Amino acid sequence: MLYVNKSEGHPPQDELKQVKAVLKRKRRTINYDEAYKEPSTKELLSGLIDHLVDDQRGLCVYCSCRVEGHGHAKPLSKILGEVRDDPVTAHVEHYIPRHPGLWYRGSGSASADILSLDYNNMFAACLGKGSTCDRSRGNRKLHIDPRNWSDVETIFYTSGGEGFSTAGRECSHNETIQHDIDDVLNLNHERLRARRATVQQMLYDMFRGLSDADAVEWCQELLAELRSDVRPPSFAPMLIWMLEDSLDLPHTGMVATEE
Ligand SMILES: [Zn+2]
Repeated sequence: MLYVNKSEGHPPQDELKQVKAVLKRKRRTINYDEAYKEPSTKELLSGLIDHLVDDQRGLCVYCSCRVEGHGHAKPLSKILGEVRDDPVTAHVEHYIPRHPGLWYRGSGSASADILSLDYNNMFAACLGKGSTCDRSRGNRKLHIDPRNWSDVETIFYTSGGEGFSTAGRECSHNETIQHDIDDVLNLNHERLRARRATVQQMLYDMFRGLSDADAVEWCQELLAELRSDVRPPSFAPMLIWMLEDSLDLPHTGMVATEE
């Protein structure tokens, strides 16, 4: 799970305002679906995914695999290698879905229609190969909110590397959030768990043979690189969590702390 600090985002406010104004003038319902049916507003919406991808540094909000919008920025970190970490196409995920179930009772400015065009309600997500992330979620309610650090900081990972069938699991100290991870978003699907365990193994392999002092220095360097990279590799939140753990630092997500 990626922590997304929306207050530091770069929403395309002018485009979103224009979309709403055009829909209002044409007496259409003001929502995302209508904006996509209307050719002039569809064009305005087309850059939205690039803003979301950039704000999330090219990672899916849920599984934190690499995603790309229309642009193709190259990753700087080489920990996963460029070929095996090719980005997949991102699309817009609505935290409060465009068509939520009866669980959602929002009205007025919190109605699903209004929120469907609210940048703060949008994330970039992968297509989940049909079985994870929002493809698994559908329109179900999520309890974990990627915008709340207090939710995301409950997450930890089992470790051990690729030789361990229990390694690479995403877990939470909070039972409800664990249900979101396992059932709603299916983030412990074997495909994802095994990929995370492989990334752990790569990290262990880099450590091998280093003296304690060199290992600490190397961890600090990699941590600084991952925190500042505009296109970190897939599973960067897990790598950062592991490095902070090994350096006895407090967990910060992707946010750089004041040094
Ligand atoms: Zn994903």
